Amino acid sequence: MAPPPARDAVREAPCPVCRHSITIADFDVDRGEIFACSACGVELELLGFDPLRLAAAAPVEDEDA
Ligand SMILES: [Zn+2]
Repeated sequence: MAPPPARDAVREAPCPVCRHSITIADFDVDRGEIFACSACGVELELLGFDPLRLAAAAPVEDEDA
């Protein structure tokens, strides 16, 4: 089993669409969850915590390559 992600650390990543710096702690999301960018409103999927990775959830491009 994989260890749970460290939830006590503030983790930030740029929005893949608008590059707004998103602080994951503000959303309190888990891996695989969908949330909206606070700046541009695009739906983002949290791909992982280490390193922190975000991807646009809209079926336009697969940036997980
Ligand atoms: Zn954005």
